[in-house]
Amino acid sequence: MDKYHTAIIGAGPAGYTAALNIAAAGKSVCLIDKDREKLGGTCLNRGCIPVKSFLESANFYQKIKSADSFGVKVTGAEVNLDKIKEKANKNIDLLKKGVLSLLQAKKVHLEFGKASFISNQKIQLKNKNNTKKIEADNFILATGSLPKKLPNLDIDNKKIFDSNSLCRSLPQAKNILIVGGGYIGSEFAHFYNSLGSEVTIVDIAESLLPGQDKDIISALEKEFRKKGIKLLTAHKITQEEADKFDIVIIAVGRKPNISSLNLEKAGIERENSFIKIDKNFKTTADNIYAVGDLINTPMLAHVALAEGKKTADFLLGKNREPINYRLVPEVIFTKPQIASIGLKETEANHKGIEIEIKKKFFRAVAKAHILGQAAGFSKLIFAKKNKKLLGASIIGPQATELIHLLAPFIKAGLPAQEFEQAIYAHPTLSEIFSS
Ligand code: FAD
Repeated sequence: MDKYHTAIIGAGPAGYTAALNIAAAGKSVCLIDKDREKLGGTCLNRGCIPVKSFLESANFYQKIKSADSFGVKVTGAEVNLDKIKEKANKNIDLLKKGVLSLLQAKKVHLEFGKASFISNQKIQLKNKNNTKKIEADNFILATGSLPKKLPNLDIDNKKIFDSNSLCRSLPQAKNILIVGGGYIGSEFAHFYNSLGSEVTIVDIAESLLPGQDKDIISALEKEFRKKGIKLLTAHKITQEEADKFDIVIIAVGRKPNISSLNLEKAGIERENSFIKIDKNFKTTADNIYAVGDLINTPMLAHVALAEGKKTADFLLGKNREPINYRLVPEVIFTKPQIASIGLKETEANHKGIEIEIKKKFFRAVAKAHILGQAAGFSKLIFAKKNKKLLGASIIGPQATELIHLLAPFIKAGLPAQEFEQAIYAHPTLSEIFSS
């Protein structure tokens, strides 16, 4: 039987980052996923990378359609969904090769099969061809998450899709219903609307994007409505209503992927549907850690990466400084884009934190007009008592990039004055932060 210092189940961003970091310290590491195709996990195969590639194509098409307003005549622009998928697949293949070569360079041993615990020192690995056992002193669980289902709308991958099957087949449709107005549903809405489909988003909640501040949500809802996206909020969809659409995309959230792991055999407890961990990502089994989407932290690829790295540090007895989740940016690739970091206004009000808000609109920023994207604003949140920057939300062009300028200010606890003294080049979108 093979024996390792650490075996990691799940080769998404959390798992492969942990593997690379532990192997870099000269320890024997086995990284396991169901099959070779799944290397890179949801993010690379069915999430961040394909969806953001699709969106880039959609934005490209939109830009061409507005070419006239930039003084460029373009005729005959056409969308080809097969080609859009092909471009996304090329990106996936390229990045997968990159991950694979890093793993090979660090001598991480790869195994493929479905893993489940036999004990806290041993797992069973089953694939089409055989079953084998793997032993390790330590395990890291990084099996990610799965799309949640709805009882009355079964995924059939013909008419009703979830994000997995949508990324796989990218169907063409004239009239699309998206169930769920979180960031995944909203990004799919932007994609299909940009390509000319009729899109309706339905959500049982009062608004899109739960968790974002009201003014950000209203600004996106307004832009969506302007583009003809229909919003049916505070509405529970029925089967009869769904039948009226060509396709239905279910995007109602995700749940930890733990059902096949035999957690009880290893003494691993859950907390709600997530895996219970301590502050060092250790589960209730002393030699087993859990990271990424299957623990109760933000379900984001960069969080998974940070947790994978941090767990490797804990396991190797290195840097024990905890992750500062306050500095995790949230990014949404709609148009306009949305990004936030640190404290939000809603949260401050809820916690009774006294704040001062500085809002600046992109219509006052020259570069936004040059780009033809002047909708939106940035909202900086300062502590009333000492004027330190506590958080920010941005809706507008390149919000997903601009947000990163703010993290160092929040981390260092710099006051507004320092922030305002910075000089921002003209004409750039960064001028949204100038006083
Ligand atoms: P995963 O990436 O899910 O990887 C888990 C791996 O474990 C999988 O490869 C799976 O095959 C494997 N596995 C599961 N069970 C077993 C088992 N029993 N045996 C062996 N292997 C197993 N995040 C962002 O930060 N930015 C974005 O723009 C973004 N866009 C997204 C868009 C969509 C449509 C979706 C669905 C997600 C998106 N995410 C985004 C979220 C991001 O994909 C996840 O947060 C991230 O992939 C979580 O990483 P992970 O390593 O925890 O798990």
